[in-house]
Amino acid sequence: MDVAVIGGSVAGLQAALTLGRARRQVVVFDDDRARNRAASHVHNFLGAEDLAPGELLAAGRRQAAAYGVEFREVRVEDAVVDDDGLVVGGERVRAVVLATGLWDELPDVPGVADGWGQSVVACPHCHGWEVRDQPLVQLGMRGAPDRSVARALLLSRWSNDVVLCTDGDELTDAQLDRLSVAGVKVRTERVAKVTAPQVTLASGEVLAPGRLFVVVRQHQQSDLAERLGCQVADGAVVADEGGRTTVPGVYAVGTTTAPALLAIGAAGHASTAAVAVHSDLLELDLGGGW
Ligand SMILES: Cc1cc2nc3c(=O)[nH]c(=O)nc-3n(C[C@H](O)[C@H](O)[C@H](O)COP(=O)(O)OP(=O)(O)OC[C@H]3O[C@@H](n4cnc5c(N)ncnc54)[C@H](O)[C@@H]3O)c2cc1C
Repeated sequence: MDVAVIGGSVAGLQAALTLGRARRQVVVFDDDRARNRAASHVHNFLGAEDLAPGELLAAGRRQAAAYGVEFREVRVEDAVVDDDGLVVGGERVRAVVLATGLWDELPDVPGVADGWGQSVVACPHCHGWEVRDQPLVQLGMRGAPDRSVARALLLSRWSNDVVLCTDGDELTDAQLDRLSVAGVKVRTERVAKVTAPQVTLASGEVLAPGRLFVVVRQHQQSDLAERLGCQVADGAVVADEGGRTTVPGVYAVGTTTAPALLAIGAAGHASTAAVAVHSDLLELDLGGGW
């Protein structure tokens, strides 16, 4: 086997498709936890606006399989680098593509997780259009007021009725001025609970937005990069434009290395990286090294 791709969401499947079409033997390992799996649609992905995340991935699997890509529906718990290359999921391969993605830590407020992906979302670029001009609430992440303010300012371009709930964080005068210019109203009291998408403040007052936007903290879904010895900085696997990590033969693609990417960006990065994987393997085919 030439390449093991770990993670079969948009980035991993795109890498597999590109490598399969380059006549590389590819196996994709995936345990079905695509980050947007709770959402109804993949928005902002040209040609896929009508598709649910699962439908897009099913089409991707079908298309990659047509070029000989193999699939293993299992979680990879370990991967090993040795003098002869790499062993992943018990299979010896020449290169590994980490497409293991991220998971989202939600604000610590009761009820937030219940509506996640539907009436509770994070990204206005993905889910703002559908609720444009409606009353919207941006729930901040307690202890991260800069990020809460930045997200509320972003959201204000989709509606002129945005309330930022800081959940107990006080804001500076400069922050309040910027929010005021953008027309964002601010509530700094603690949030008692969310009954998605409604927000109940500690006072008992209920805010009823069309959709609740929340600030999230992102974490790697897998520690395989660290186990393989790759450098990880600020929660992202360090890689160059071709996805090359600090360990020869190990590549990182999509949100694994660039957390802010939307789905089509993750796929685009994976395509570029797969071309680099193929070129690097060609050098090995010709007797060169990594
Ligand atoms: C609720 C929500 C809605 C979103 N909506 C949109 C949208 O409308 N439009 C948009 O562009 N973006 C959207 N996004 C962002 C989008 O989900 C990401 O940009 C995209 O999923 C990144 O793809 P990825 O392939 O990099 O990683 P992921 O989608 O995170 O996929 C990682 C894959 O790796 C697998 N995996 C991880 N570790 C292992 C392991 N050890 N062994 C085997 N498999 C493993 C997981 O099961 C998963 O399938 C949304 C995000 C969220 C949270």
